[in-house]
Amino acid sequence: MKQTDCIIIGTGPAGMTAAIYSARANMSPIILEGHEPGGQLTTTTDVENFPGFPEGITGPELMDNMRNQAKRFGAEFISTNVSKVDFNSHPYKIICENGDEFIAQTVIISTGASAKYTGLPNEKELIGKGVSACATCDGFFYKDKIVHVVGGGDTAMEEATFLSRFASKVYILHRRDSLRASKISQQKIFDNPGIEVVWDTIPVELKFNETGLTSIIVKNVKTKALSERKTDGFFLGIGHLPNTSFLEGQLELDNQGLIKTSNGPETSKPGIFACGDVQDPYYRQAITAAGSGCMGAIKAERFLEEHTTT
Ligand code: NDP
Repeated sequence: MKQTDCIIIGTGPAGMTAAIYSARANMSPIILEGHEPGGQLTTTTDVENFPGFPEGITGPELMDNMRNQAKRFGAEFISTNVSKVDFNSHPYKIICENGDEFIAQTVIISTGASAKYTGLPNEKELIGKGVSACATCDGFFYKDKIVHVVGGGDTAMEEATFLSRFASKVYILHRRDSLRASKISQQKIFDNPGIEVVWDTIPVELKFNETGLTSIIVKNVKTKALSERKTDGFFLGIGHLPNTSFLEGQLELDNQGLIKTSNGPETSKPGIFACGDVQDPYYRQAITAAGSGCMGAIKAERFLEEHTTT
Protein backbone atom coordinates (compact mmCIF):
# COMPACT_ATOMS: atom_id res chain seq x y z
CA MET A 1 0.00 0.00 0.00
CA LYS A 2 1.48 3.32 -1.10
CA GLN A 3 1.24 6.45 1.09
CA THR A 4 0.94 9.82 -0.62
CA ASP A 5 0.09 13.44 0.12
CA CYS A 6 -2.26 13.86 -2.78
CA ILE A 7 -4.25 11.58 -5.05
CA ILE A 8 -6.03 13.06 -8.04
CA ILE A 9 -8.77 10.95 -9.60
CA GLY A 10 -9.56 11.80 -13.23
CA THR A 11 -7.63 13.56 -15.98
CA GLY A 12 -9.86 16.12 -17.69
CA PRO A 13 -8.91 19.80 -17.50
CA ALA A 14 -9.79 19.88 -13.77
CA GLY A 15 -7.58 16.92 -12.83
CA MET A 16 -4.74 18.03 -15.09
CA THR A 17 -4.72 21.55 -13.65
CA ALA A 18 -4.84 20.15 -10.11
CA ALA A 19 -1.87 17.95 -11.11
CA ILE A 20 0.15 20.92 -12.40
CA TYR A 21 -0.51 23.02 -9.30
CA SER A 22 0.00 20.25 -6.74
CA ALA A 23 3.18 19.03 -8.47
CA ARG A 24 4.58 22.56 -8.47
CA ALA A 25 3.73 22.76 -4.75
CA ASN A 26 5.92 19.68 -4.13
CA MET A 27 2.97 17.51 -3.14
CA SER A 28 4.15 14.64 -5.42
CA PRO A 29 0.63 13.98 -6.70
CA ILE A 30 -0.38 10.59 -8.04
CA ILE A 31 -2.96 10.88 -10.79
CA LEU A 32 -5.29 7.96 -11.50
CA GLU A 33 -6.20 8.42 -15.13
CA GLY A 34 -9.49 6.54 -15.38
CA HIS A 35 -11.15 4.89 -18.39
CA GLU A 36 -11.06 8.02 -20.55
CA PRO A 37 -7.64 9.67 -20.10
CA GLY A 38 -7.91 13.36 -20.94
CA GLY A 39 -11.67 13.34 -20.31
CA GLN A 40 -14.42 14.63 -22.55
CA LEU A 41 -12.17 17.05 -24.44
CA THR A 42 -10.44 14.11 -26.08
CA THR A 43 -13.73 13.41 -27.86
CA THR A 44 -14.18 16.95 -29.19
CA THR A 45 -12.61 18.58 -32.20
CA ASP A 46 -11.49 22.18 -32.08
CA VAL A 47 -11.53 24.01 -28.79
CA GLU A 48 -11.94 27.64 -29.75
CA ASN A 49 -12.69 29.22 -26.40
CA PHE A 50 -9.77 28.13 -24.20
CA PRO A 51 -7.78 31.34 -23.60
CA GLY A 52 -4.26 31.42 -25.01
CA PHE A 53 -4.98 29.66 -28.31
CA PRO A 54 -6.10 32.38 -30.74
CA GLU A 55 -6.36 29.92 -33.64
CA GLY A 56 -8.01 27.22 -31.47
CA ILE A 57 -6.49 23.88 -30.51
CA THR A 58 -7.79 20.33 -30.77
CA GLY A 59 -9.11 18.75 -27.57
CA PRO A 60 -6.58 15.86 -27.58
CA GLU A 61 -3.68 18.27 -28.19
CA LEU A 62 -4.79 20.54 -25.34
CA MET A 63 -5.00 17.59 -22.96
CA ASP A 64 -1.61 16.26 -24.09
CA ASN A 65 -0.09 19.66 -23.41
CA MET A 66 -1.59 19.74 -19.91
CA ARG A 67 -0.36 16.21 -19.20
CA ASN A 68 3.18 17.02 -20.33
CA GLN A 69 3.13 20.20 -18.26
CA ALA A 70 2.13 18.22 -15.12
CA LYS A 71 4.78 15.56 -15.82
CA ARG A 72 7.46 18.25 -16.16
CA PHE A 73 6.86 19.10 -12.49
CA GLY A 74 6.97 15.47 -11.36
CA ALA A 75 3.30 14.39 -11.39
CA GLU A 76 2.99 10.60 -11.58
CA PHE A 77 0.25 9.21 -13.84
CA ILE A 78 -1.12 5.70 -13.35
CA SER A 79 -3.43 4.18 -15.94
CA THR A 80 -6.15 2.65 -13.80
CA ASN A 81 -9.68 3.21 -12.58
CA VAL A 82 -10.74 3.55 -8.95
CA SER A 83 -12.97 0.70 -7.85
CA LYS A 84 -13.53 1.59 -4.19
CA VAL A 85 -12.76 4.28 -1.65
CA ASP A 86 -12.86 4.42 2.12
CA PHE A 87 -13.31 8.01 3.27
CA ASN A 88 -14.56 7.11 6.74
CA SER A 89 -11.29 7.94 8.48
CA HIS A 90 -8.30 10.12 7.66
CA PRO A 91 -5.90 9.45 5.93
CA TYR A 92 -8.13 8.16 3.12
CA LYS A 93 -7.96 4.82 1.32
CA ILE A 94 -8.29 4.33 -2.43
CA ILE A 95 -8.41 0.94 -4.13
CA CYS A 96 -7.87 0.63 -7.88
CA GLU A 97 -9.02 -1.90 -10.47
CA ASN A 98 -5.40 -2.90 -11.18
CA GLY A 99 -4.96 -3.85 -7.50
CA ASP A 100 -3.02 -0.72 -6.47
CA GLU A 101 -3.99 0.65 -3.06
CA PHE A 102 -3.19 4.10 -1.73
CA ILE A 103 -3.39 5.93 1.56
CA ALA A 104 -3.76 9.63 0.84
CA GLN A 105 -3.71 12.75 3.01
CA THR A 106 -5.73 14.65 0.42
CA VAL A 107 -7.91 13.56 -2.49
CA ILE A 108 -8.95 15.66 -5.47
CA ILE A 109 -11.89 14.15 -7.36
CA SER A 110 -12.21 15.27 -10.97
CA THR A 111 -13.89 12.28 -12.58
CA GLY A 112 -16.13 14.45 -14.79
CA ALA A 113 -19.29 13.24 -16.44
CA SER A 114 -20.29 10.80 -19.18
CA ALA A 115 -22.80 11.10 -21.99
CA LYS A 116 -26.44 10.36 -21.16
CA TYR A 117 -28.39 7.83 -23.19
CA THR A 118 -32.15 8.09 -23.85
CA GLY A 119 -32.89 4.66 -22.36
CA LEU A 120 -34.74 3.43 -25.48
CA PRO A 121 -34.84 -0.38 -25.85
CA ASN A 122 -31.74 -1.79 -27.65
CA GLU A 123 -29.92 1.56 -27.51
CA LYS A 124 -26.87 0.21 -25.67
CA GLU A 125 -26.78 -2.98 -27.78
CA LEU A 126 -26.62 -0.80 -30.91
CA ILE A 127 -23.56 1.17 -29.78
CA GLY A 128 -21.06 0.76 -32.61
CA LYS A 129 -23.87 -0.39 -34.92
CA GLY A 130 -25.48 2.98 -35.53
CA VAL A 131 -25.75 4.41 -32.02
CA SER A 132 -22.99 6.70 -30.74
CA ALA A 133 -22.38 9.38 -28.12
CA CYS A 134 -19.23 10.62 -29.81
CA ALA A 135 -19.39 12.21 -33.25
CA THR A 136 -15.66 12.88 -33.22
CA CYS A 137 -14.89 9.22 -32.63
CA ASP A 138 -17.42 7.75 -35.06
CA GLY A 139 -18.33 10.48 -37.57
CA PHE A 140 -15.96 9.15 -40.21
CA PHE A 141 -18.03 5.96 -40.51
CA TYR A 142 -21.04 7.97 -41.67
CA LYS A 143 -19.64 9.29 -44.94
CA ASP A 144 -22.56 10.03 -47.33
CA LYS A 145 -25.04 8.58 -44.84
CA ILE A 146 -28.09 9.98 -43.06
CA VAL A 147 -27.72 10.63 -39.34
CA HIS A 148 -29.93 11.94 -36.56
CA VAL A 149 -28.64 13.76 -33.50
CA VAL A 150 -30.90 14.03 -30.46
CA GLY A 151 -30.72 17.10 -28.19
CA GLY A 152 -30.92 20.87 -28.39
CA GLY A 153 -27.88 22.00 -26.39
CA ASP A 154 -24.32 22.87 -27.39
CA THR A 155 -23.24 19.23 -27.40
CA ALA A 156 -25.90 18.32 -29.96
CA MET A 157 -25.02 21.36 -32.12
CA GLU A 158 -21.33 20.49 -32.00
CA GLU A 159 -22.01 16.87 -32.90
CA ALA A 160 -24.29 17.88 -35.77
CA THR A 161 -21.77 20.39 -37.16
CA PHE A 162 -19.00 17.81 -37.03
CA LEU A 163 -21.16 15.10 -38.62
CA SER A 164 -22.18 17.43 -41.46
CA ARG A 165 -18.60 17.16 -42.76
CA PHE A 166 -19.23 13.50 -43.58
CA ALA A 167 -22.93 12.72 -43.68
CA SER A 168 -25.20 13.42 -46.67
CA LYS A 169 -27.77 14.87 -44.25
CA VAL A 170 -27.88 15.54 -40.53
CA TYR A 171 -31.19 15.91 -38.71
CA ILE A 172 -31.38 17.27 -35.18
CA LEU A 173 -34.31 15.89 -33.18
CA HIS A 174 -35.28 18.38 -30.50
CA ARG A 175 -38.15 17.97 -28.08
CA ARG A 176 -39.11 21.67 -28.02
CA ASP A 177 -39.55 24.50 -30.53
CA SER A 178 -36.44 26.45 -29.51
CA LEU A 179 -32.86 25.35 -28.91
CA ARG A 180 -31.02 25.52 -25.61
CA ALA A 181 -27.61 25.94 -27.29
CA SER A 182 -25.69 29.25 -27.32
CA LYS A 183 -26.77 31.71 -30.02
CA ILE A 184 -23.48 31.33 -31.90
CA SER A 185 -23.75 27.56 -32.26
CA GLN A 186 -27.45 27.85 -33.16
CA GLN A 187 -26.53 30.23 -35.98
CA LYS A 188 -23.92 27.76 -37.27
CA ILE A 189 -26.66 25.13 -37.47
CA PHE A 190 -29.18 27.39 -39.23
CA ASP A 191 -26.51 28.49 -41.73
CA ASN A 192 -25.47 24.91 -42.55
CA PRO A 193 -27.46 23.51 -45.52
CA GLY A 194 -26.49 19.97 -44.53
CA ILE A 195 -28.33 20.22 -41.19
CA GLU A 196 -32.05 20.42 -40.50
CA VAL A 197 -33.77 20.68 -37.12
CA VAL A 198 -36.86 18.53 -36.57
CA TRP A 199 -38.76 20.46 -33.89
CA ASP A 200 -40.98 19.16 -31.07
CA THR A 201 -39.85 15.64 -31.72
CA ILE A 202 -38.56 12.76 -29.62
CA PRO A 203 -37.29 9.33 -30.66
CA VAL A 204 -39.49 6.49 -29.38
CA GLU A 205 -38.09 3.37 -31.06
CA LEU A 206 -34.90 2.24 -32.77
CA LYS A 207 -35.36 -0.18 -35.70
CA PHE A 208 -32.51 -2.39 -36.79
CA ASN A 209 -31.51 -5.49 -38.70
CA GLU A 210 -28.49 -7.82 -38.36
CA THR A 211 -26.10 -5.14 -39.67
CA GLY A 212 -27.32 -2.41 -37.34
CA LEU A 213 -29.65 0.58 -37.10
CA THR A 214 -31.98 1.15 -40.07
CA SER A 215 -34.54 3.73 -38.92
CA ILE A 216 -36.07 5.45 -35.92
CA ILE A 217 -39.67 5.96 -34.99
CA VAL A 218 -40.22 9.49 -33.77
CA LYS A 219 -43.15 11.23 -32.12
CA ASN A 220 -44.23 14.83 -32.52
CA VAL A 221 -44.91 15.83 -28.91
CA LYS A 222 -47.51 18.43 -29.95
CA THR A 223 -49.56 16.42 -32.46
CA LYS A 224 -48.65 13.00 -30.95
CA ALA A 225 -48.14 11.79 -34.56
CA LEU A 226 -45.66 8.95 -35.03
CA SER A 227 -43.45 8.65 -38.10
CA GLU A 228 -40.57 6.49 -39.29
CA ARG A 229 -37.32 8.12 -40.39
CA LYS A 230 -34.64 6.21 -42.26
CA THR A 231 -31.26 6.68 -40.63
CA ASP A 232 -27.81 5.13 -40.48
CA GLY A 233 -26.72 6.88 -37.31
CA PHE A 234 -28.30 7.98 -34.03
CA PHE A 235 -26.07 10.31 -32.01
CA LEU A 236 -26.73 11.28 -28.41
CA GLY A 237 -26.37 14.93 -27.43
CA ILE A 238 -28.69 15.15 -24.43
CA GLY A 239 -26.25 16.00 -21.67
CA HIS A 240 -24.13 14.12 -19.20
CA LEU A 241 -24.20 12.24 -15.91
CA PRO A 242 -21.51 12.75 -13.24
CA ASN A 243 -19.13 9.83 -12.67
CA THR A 244 -19.71 9.37 -8.96
CA SER A 245 -21.08 5.85 -8.54
CA PHE A 246 -17.89 4.81 -6.68
CA LEU A 247 -18.56 7.54 -4.10
CA GLU A 248 -22.01 6.50 -2.91
CA GLY A 249 -22.13 6.41 0.88
CA GLN A 250 -18.70 8.07 1.07
CA LEU A 251 -19.42 11.69 0.15
CA GLU A 252 -22.57 13.80 0.02
CA LEU A 253 -24.03 13.81 -3.49
CA ASP A 254 -27.04 15.76 -4.75
CA ASN A 255 -30.11 14.18 -6.36
CA GLN A 256 -28.42 14.21 -9.79
CA GLY A 257 -25.36 12.41 -8.39
CA LEU A 258 -23.14 15.52 -8.44
CA ILE A 259 -20.72 15.93 -5.53
CA LYS A 260 -21.99 18.62 -3.18
CA THR A 261 -19.38 21.36 -2.67
CA SER A 262 -19.05 24.53 -0.62
CA ASN A 263 -16.38 27.26 -0.34
CA GLY A 264 -15.23 26.36 -3.85
CA PRO A 265 -14.12 22.73 -4.09
CA GLU A 266 -14.69 21.56 -0.47
CA THR A 267 -16.76 18.37 -0.16
CA SER A 268 -18.54 16.94 2.87
CA LYS A 269 -15.22 15.41 4.10
CA PRO A 270 -12.16 17.46 5.11
CA GLY A 271 -9.19 17.12 2.78
CA ILE A 272 -11.33 15.80 -0.09
CA PHE A 273 -11.99 18.26 -2.90
CA ALA A 274 -14.13 18.00 -6.02
CA CYS A 275 -13.37 19.89 -9.22
CA GLY A 276 -14.82 20.20 -12.72
CA ASP A 277 -17.98 18.64 -14.13
CA VAL A 278 -18.29 16.09 -11.31
CA GLN A 279 -19.61 18.93 -9.12
CA ASP A 280 -20.67 21.56 -11.64
CA PRO A 281 -24.18 21.41 -13.15
CA TYR A 282 -23.98 24.89 -14.63
CA TYR A 283 -20.78 26.13 -16.30
CA ARG A 284 -19.25 22.82 -17.48
CA GLN A 285 -16.53 24.46 -19.56
CA ALA A 286 -12.91 23.37 -19.93
CA ILE A 287 -11.74 26.70 -18.52
CA THR A 288 -14.03 26.61 -15.48
CA ALA A 289 -13.02 22.99 -14.83
CA ALA A 290 -9.35 24.00 -15.05
CA GLY A 291 -10.00 26.90 -12.65
CA SER A 292 -11.67 24.65 -10.11
CA GLY A 293 -8.79 22.15 -10.42
CA CYS A 294 -6.43 24.95 -9.47
CA MET A 295 -8.62 25.79 -6.46
CA GLY A 296 -8.68 22.12 -5.42
CA ALA A 297 -4.88 21.91 -5.47
CA ILE A 298 -4.48 25.12 -3.46
CA LYS A 299 -7.03 23.92 -0.88
CA ALA A 300 -5.27 20.54 -0.69
CA GLU A 301 -1.94 22.27 -0.11
CA ARG A 302 -3.42 24.37 2.74
CA PHE A 303 -5.05 21.28 4.23
CA LEU A 304 -1.73 19.42 4.20
CA GLU A 305 -0.01 22.28 6.02
CA GLU A 306 -2.57 22.06 8.81
CA HIS A 307 -3.77 18.44 9.06
CA THR A 308 -1.33 15.73 8.00
CA THR A 309 -1.96 12.55 10.03
CA THR A 310 -0.08 9.26 10.04
P1 NDP B 1 -27.57 20.57 -22.02
O1 NDP B 1 -28.13 20.09 -20.73
O2 NDP B 1 -27.22 22.00 -22.20
O3 NDP B 1 -28.59 20.20 -23.20
C1 NDP B 1 -29.18 18.93 -23.28
C2 NDP B 1 -30.20 18.96 -24.40
O4 NDP B 1 -30.76 17.66 -24.57
C3 NDP B 1 -31.33 19.92 -24.14
O5 NDP B 1 -31.70 20.59 -25.32
C4 NDP B 1 -32.46 18.99 -23.65
O6 NDP B 1 -33.73 19.46 -24.02
C5 NDP B 1 -32.17 17.72 -24.41
N1 NDP B 1 -32.56 16.52 -23.68
C6 NDP B 1 -32.22 16.16 -22.42
N2 NDP B 1 -32.73 14.95 -22.10
C7 NDP B 1 -33.41 14.54 -23.19
C8 NDP B 1 -34.16 13.38 -23.49
N3 NDP B 1 -34.27 12.36 -22.62
N4 NDP B 1 -34.73 13.28 -24.72
C9 NDP B 1 -34.59 14.28 -25.63
N5 NDP B 1 -33.89 15.41 -25.41
C10 NDP B 1 -33.30 15.53 -24.20
O7 NDP B 1 -26.30 19.61 -22.28
P2 NDP B 1 -25.07 19.81 -23.27
O8 NDP B 1 -24.30 18.58 -23.13
O9 NDP B 1 -25.50 20.20 -24.61
O10 NDP B 1 -24.26 21.04 -22.67
C11 NDP B 1 -23.84 21.02 -21.29
C12 NDP B 1 -23.03 22.27 -20.99
O11 NDP B 1 -21.79 22.20 -21.68
C13 NDP B 1 -23.71 23.56 -21.41
O12 NDP B 1 -23.42 24.54 -20.47
C14 NDP B 1 -23.05 23.87 -22.72
O13 NDP B 1 -23.06 25.26 -23.00
C15 NDP B 1 -21.65 23.34 -22.51
N6 NDP B 1 -21.01 22.97 -23.77
C16 NDP B 1 -20.22 23.91 -24.36
C17 NDP B 1 -19.61 23.64 -25.55
C18 NDP B 1 -18.74 24.71 -26.15
O14 NDP B 1 -18.71 25.81 -25.62
N7 NDP B 1 -18.02 24.45 -27.22
C19 NDP B 1 -19.76 22.35 -26.24
C20 NDP B 1 -20.62 21.44 -25.55
C21 NDP B 1 -21.23 21.75 -24.35
P3 NDP B 1 -34.35 20.79 -23.35
O15 NDP B 1 -33.64 21.93 -24.03
O16 NDP B 1 -35.79 20.70 -23.68
O17 NDP B 1 -34.06 20.69 -21.89
